[in-house]
Amino acid sequence: MARYIGSVCRLCRREGVKLFLKGDRCFKDKCAIERRNYAPGQHGQRRSKVTDYGVQLREKQKVRRVYGVMERQFRGYFEKAERKKGITGENLLRMLEQRLDNVVYRLGFTFSRNEARQFLRHGHIDVNGRRVTIPSFLVSAGDVVSIREKSRSLPRVVEAMAAVDRREIPSWLVLEKEAFRGRVASLPTREDIQIPVQEQLIVELYSK
Ligand code: SF4
Repeated sequence: MARYIGSVCRLCRREGVKLFLKGDRCFKDKCAIERRNYAPGQHGQRRSKVTDYGVQLREKQKVRRVYGVMERQFRGYFEKAERKKGITGENLLRMLEQRLDNVVYRLGFTFSRNEARQFLRHGHIDVNGRRVTIPSFLVSAGDVVSIREKSRSLPRVVEAMAAVDRREIPSWLVLEKEAFRGRVASLPTREDIQIPVQEQLIVELYSK
């Protein structure tokens, strides 16, 4: 599957906000946004007029980059969100939030969504007692997501679990730290999604 392999800090600089793609480094003053808060590239410091289309495009790119989803798959999520009852923009964000790689990250099992994707693909995660290796798997209310027994002593897992108390676990997830597992207490609501985004602009972009 295609994936972005360039510098993730460039993505934050392009969007002009912290997207928290690099784990612990994002909270330190080494963060590229703290050091060079302008777009990357030769013309990054130029001020140019932004069109409505440009604003809508940036909102879409921001969300896509936060969740690490490529354009085609993102469009697929949008089409599903449109078919669902309710507000399309909210449906879209809620669906992205339900992705298993996001849940693994939000539970504090990994330091970033990127790491969560790799962790999943390597078979370290069970959902309801069965191994799941698909990052785009959507969790349902009541699902139990756990780190497989053999993987619990991996140095990166030990490090993440030691830091988990410093992380903010969203209210729709319940972490049982000692058991290396988390439960999906309910599906996320729009209020649970803290990303600074105006999802309506994405709907407008795709509705042209
Ligand atoms: Fe973005 Fe994190 Fe890099 Fe800062 S350190 S620019 S928040 S990925």
